[in-house]
Amino acid sequence: MGSKYTKRYTEEFKRDAIALVDSSGKTVTAVARELGISSESLRGWYRRAKADRGEGAPGELTSAEREELRRLRRENREQQQTIEILKKATAFFARSAVGDSLAFEQAQAVAEEARAWRGANAFRLVRYLSDRPDALSMPSSDCPTCVVRLLVALTAAGHGDKVTLVACGDCGRTDPLPTNNGPEGRLCSRCAGRRAKKPCARCGKVASIYARRPEGGICNPCRDKEPDAKE
Ligand SMILES: [Zn+2]
Ligand SMILES: [Zn+2]
Repeated sequence: MGSKYTKRYTEEFKRDAIALVDSSGKTVTAVARELGISSESLRGWYRRAKADRGEGAPGELTSAEREELRRLRRENREQQQTIEILKKATAFFARSAVGDSLAFEQAQAVAEEARAWRGANAFRLVRYLSDRPDALSMPSSDCPTCVVRLLVALTAAGHGDKVTLVACGDCGRTDPLPTNNGPEGRLCSRCAGRRAKKPCARCGKVASIYARRPEGGICNPCRDKEPDAKE
């Protein structure tokens, strides 16, 4: 027999002990003494069982909630670690493009400024940068949006001579930022909006396509004329 401090009790034993407290009307301490277990253990089980039945103290978590909280904390910790790794990777690539004139802390600040580490975008960014050593001096027109932002942040930090901003594939401008994805590369919002306009399949006017129909895309006014439009 191990000491009572390291002994593990089965769930069944715990349940029986808890039931004994409820049915006997004796105190937890008395039941614990009878069973030869520590009263702290039994008090803990008893409190937890009550909380699980929703009879716990206000604000006390049930086992399921506690497990949920543990899971969320773990996920949050993993996410934080991922963010740190991605930030470091982004900073590393920014430095390798710009050179030693960019201190690592500055590079990391630039990466933060560009919001270049969040979620799936960050993975895309790091993959893009690691595939192309010249990604920041000669970015391709289909680069991820965070590369567009990263280049702007690097330019703003005074390294514009080492990097090339991504230009809109239609108008060639770098401002507004080409944050839209066109079929042949990045587009500014203005050009993306213009491109989205097509002749309406019903009235023939060039307009933003509002809905898809068997004959093709139709404009908003034509959609409004459909019988079921007023709801
Ligand atoms: Zn444009
Ligand atoms: Zn129309």
